[in-house]
Amino acid sequence: MSLTKCGSCGVPKPIAFMHRWRDDGILESRLGGARGILVEREAFAGSLQKIEEALGFPIDHIIIDAKRRDAKLYVDDVVSGVPGVIARLRPFRRLGYVIMIRQAAMIGLAKAELLSYKPGVKFVGRVYPVYHPILFVGDVCGAFESLEKKRARPIYGKIGEAWYSELYVDDSLPREDRLELEKTPETTARAGFERCEACGVPRGIGNFRWITSQAKIIDTTTGEWIIYINVAGLNTILRELEQELGEDIPRMVSRFVFDVYRGLVREHPASYLEDLSFMKLRGFGIPDADAPSREELAQGLVVRNPFNAPMVAGIVAAIRGGDSAEFTWETPEPGVLLVRVEG
Ligand SMILES: [Zn+2]
Repeated sequence: MSLTKCGSCGVPKPIAFMHRWRDDGILESRLGGARGILVEREAFAGSLQKIEEALGFPIDHIIIDAKRRDAKLYVDDVVSGVPGVIARLRPFRRLGYVIMIRQAAMIGLAKAELLSYKPGVKFVGRVYPVYHPILFVGDVCGAFESLEKKRARPIYGKIGEAWYSELYVDDSLPREDRLELEKTPETTARAGFERCEACGVPRGIGNFRWITSQAKIIDTTTGEWIIYINVAGLNTILRELEQELGEDIPRMVSRFVFDVYRGLVREHPASYLEDLSFMKLRGFGIPDADAPSREELAQGLVVRNPFNAPMVAGIVAAIRGGDSAEFTWETPEPGVLLVRVEG
C-alpha cells in the first residue's frame, strides 16, 4: 500500500483529506469530528504498560472495555450514512473491516490482517507491528460491534512476534444503549499555523515519515513511533483506570509522560523539543507562551484546549523544566489548563 503525498510538504494526501487542524488548536477527524492527537506511542501506550507494571496485576479488562466502547463510536461515525448501511450488509461487511485495517495502518496504529471471517459469527485477525496489543483488541471488538451490531468475546495471545485475536459472537453479553463520546471542553484560542499552500496541513507535520509498509509514522528528528489516537478514547481509558484503581492514576500518568519527553529532550538537544511550539501541531493544546522562563513557569503557564490535563502538564514540565522538575496543574475554567513548574 502506498500513499500519494503532497508535492509541497510530503504529508500523505489522505491524511490532509481526513483530518482538520483547526485554528483553535484542535485536531479532528473530518468524518464525525472526533478529536485526535499525534503522540509518541511510548507516551500513551508505554504509560499504560508502566501503570500495569507498577500495580503488579493485569488491567487488560479495563483497557479493552474502555477502548471497545470508544472504537465502536468511532467506527459508527466513520462508516456512516448510505456507505455505512451498505458496508453493514452481509456480502459487503468484510469491506468494512478492510477499510478499518487500512485506516489503522495509515494513522500508525497497526499492520493488521484478516485471517478468517464469518459475518455475524466470528473474526480472526493477526497484527504486527501494533501500537499496543491490548488497546488493539479493544479496537477490534469495537469495530466488530459497530459492523455486526452484536457483542463478541475476544480471545487473544502472542505467537512469535505477532498478536492474534479471535472474536466470537456472544449473545449473553449485555447490549448497551448508545454511549456518547465525552468531548473535551473547548475555548477560543489561536494557533497561528503556517500552512502548506497546497494541502493546508500545518508546516512541521512534514517532519513525519509515513511508512505504510510497517504501518508506522516516524518522527524523523527523534526516530520515535508516532500514533494518531482518539482523544475521547484516551480520556475514557484514563478515567476508567482512575475509577477502578484510584486517584493516584493521573499523577502516575503525568510522571510517566514527563519521563518520556524528558528522555527525548536529553537525547535531542537543539531540536524542536527546545520549546512548546510543537504542541499545537500535535493537537495537544496551545500554550500562551512557547518558551516560558523558569520564573514564568513557577507562576503558571496557561494551555488552551488541552487534550488531557495530566499528560499536558507532564509534557510542559519535561520540555521547559529540569530533570527533577516538580509540577502541578489545575483547570481554572473549562478548556483552560494552568501548569505550575518548579525546578
Ligand atoms: Zn502539503
